[in-house]
Amino acid sequence: MPVMRRTRIALNVQGIPVVKDLIVAEKEPFSPSLNSLREPERRVVGGYQKKIARLLLDIAGMEELRHFGTRRSLPGRVLETFRRVMDLFDESTRYLLGCLQDRGIFVRCGPQCPHCCYNMPSGLSNLELIGIYHGSVCTGMAPRLFRRCLEAGETWEGLLQRNPRQDDRDAPGALHHSREELLKRYLGQCMPCPFLHRSFCVVYPYRPMACRMHFSLSPPHWCNPAHFQNPHAVSFNLEPGECVQKALDRLDARFCLNISDIMICGFLELTVNIMQFEPIRWT
Ligand code: SF4
Ligand code: SF4
Repeated sequence: MPVMRRTRIALNVQGIPVVKDLIVAEKEPFSPSLNSLREPERRVVGGYQKKIARLLLDIAGMEELRHFGTRRSLPGRVLETFRRVMDLFDESTRYLLGCLQDRGIFVRCGPQCPHCCYNMPSGLSNLELIGIYHGSVCTGMAPRLFRRCLEAGETWEGLLQRNPRQDDRDAPGALHHSREELLKRYLGQCMPCPFLHRSFCVVYPYRPMACRMHFSLSPPHWCNPAHFQNPHAVSFNLEPGECVQKALDRLDARFCLNISDIMICGFLELTVNIMQFEPIRWT
């Protein structure tokens, strides 16, 4: 079962945006291939991706980003544009899911469906982490969320220390394997996401792409790693395309915050090292 991970290595199927990890664990009746997108569908999806990338590059062009690490302030239009990016991303995945539906494939996901929130989202950009930080402050329960993130961070650290693959780290592809392995082991800990409160994601409007792109064809409860049917769950990720990935990388280079792309680790580093528990000043 794929984990909530936006890969840093962009994949592009014949120039169309990424549809990766479409798991066909049980080949029948599900054996969808998004390579079979029709030309008009490809154009629509490609259009979404270009719009998203353009908005991200607009943000990357803002001079104030360079000083975020020291001034802890950002122009309000960063937040507005970020929201538009996420809305467009959701719209594009809805469109892709519609294409799947036309082929008789139906996802079981709905808003605030929490059973997959035992994953450790990863592959997060600096901007997404800033969004989550801002969202956590807006909840009014930032200290509690921080404490929960600390607990999750300790679990993650514990797994890192016990990682038996450390000896293999020089092997080709070891980093990738080791990361996937760790994410799967974290999922196996059945630890709810620190932002899950009474089965609701408290940072839902600010959740990262990794959370927005994860879907399931099997019943929602099967997504829970503790559910006995979990090994048979059929889930997949609809990743953003190459142009979006590149725009996010460019943004990271502009922020230059040097924080982890693992959600909890990045959130903790941002909170302690950069924001020092202060809210972001939107100018
Ligand atoms: S992946 Fe599973 S738990 Fe997550 S939203 Fe979809 S059905 Fe719900
Ligand atoms: S951030 Fe929200 S949507 Fe993502 S895993 Fe955590 S609770 Fe679930």
